Amino acid sequence: MSDRLILRAARVVDGTSPEALTGVEVVVADGKITGIVPTGTTQAAPEEIVDLGDRTLMPGLIDLHVHFARTLSEEEVQRTLERPELRLIRSAMDAGDLLRAGFTTVRHVGGMDGIFVRDAIEEGTIPGPRIQAAGLPVSQTGGHGDIHFVPLEWISHDRIRSGVIADGPDECRRAVRLNLRESADLIKVMASGGVVTRRDHPRHAQFTEEELRAIVSEANRWEAGFPAPAGGAGIGPGVRAGGTPIEHCYFLTRPVAELMAEKGTFFVPTLLRLHRGVTRGPEVGVSPWINAKFTETWDAAVEGVAMAREAGVRIGLGTDLGLRPHTRHGWNWQEIPLLVQAGLSPMEAIRAGTSVAAEAMGLEESIGRVAPGYLADLIAVDGDPLADPEVVGNVAWVMKGGVVEKAA
Ligand SMILES: [Zn+2]
Repeated sequence: MSDRLILRAARVVDGTSPEALTGVEVVVADGKITGIVPTGTTQAAPEEIVDLGDRTLMPGLIDLHVHFARTLSEEEVQRTLERPELRLIRSAMDAGDLLRAGFTTVRHVGGMDGIFVRDAIEEGTIPGPRIQAAGLPVSQTGGHGDIHFVPLEWISHDRIRSGVIADGPDECRRAVRLNLRESADLIKVMASGGVVTRRDHPRHAQFTEEELRAIVSEANRWEAGFPAPAGGAGIGPGVRAGGTPIEHCYFLTRPVAELMAEKGTFFVPTLLRLHRGVTRGPEVGVSPWINAKFTETWDAAVEGVAMAREAGVRIGLGTDLGLRPHTRHGWNWQEIPLLVQAGLSPMEAIRAGTSVAAEAMGLEESIGRVAPGYLADLIAVDGDPLADPEVVGNVAWVMKGGVVEKAA
């Protein structure tokens, strides 16, 4: 008996076409999409037909910037010292939440949990999305991956392990090698200060360009990707060193946006993380100095998206959710309406979370599109996301690799 399925829905948003397709059905067999044909033209037994009604069938969503290891506390010292074993269990639950929310692929950017969860999903132990995992973020001393209020030697202790601290090109190369030895798929580099670390700021560059070049050239030799979370003065050096995607890009300037467009650098804005902070931070007990930085950064982040779009930079969807109670997974879809508010069309925002995100991961030939030969990673949402981007929050049905993970 074949495992073929015929999927029928009111419209198909395929991830690349300028308009939704209507009057078509999608044929899936052996985990892949095998055809998109006029509705009713496939000879099919009744049990092979999945009728999704007035829904929109589209590629499974991709989040280019997630974290697992969510803490239950917003308080900085308590969060830092939570047991990693407990956080790993929550990470496994997060993976299931993401898949049911329609995210069939994610890039985990920071922490060993991503590697463990990725492997548990691949061996079939737990349900979850496809994962590319970064291992431990590489940070300079005093940088965004260094927790400034604990003794320096605690950073590498199993209880914390927030990153690999490296200074100078040689240590930077070694940090890359240590991560790849742990089977990281990509290297995450803190190329600027951050929002939630007290003694640095997203306007300020971290690492010298020489150090960044050492990291990129080492990662390239292993064919590992290089996402650099960067803002302000850190964006330019990250781009010039060959880093892509560059995440966050708070305080982006026009010349740097033009350089990104010229070099084909992908940009992952992560508006949702800031939006959650600005709207929820004060009431959930986030430290006042973090809330002040959220507020200071928000307008610059939104302006940066419009500036990048105008310059022709390719924008991919990432949320930066998953580290704190007020940024837990399940809300990731909200990045799509936020990108629309920042100036993208609904179709551009959907592409950011499908075909463009796939390209940013180097997976453009297998995921991110509804097209013959692509993996059958598909979702159905209630309504038409091109008319109302908010409907991507109503994911009624999820398929990953031809297997239905959430039934309508
Ligand atoms: Zn992040």
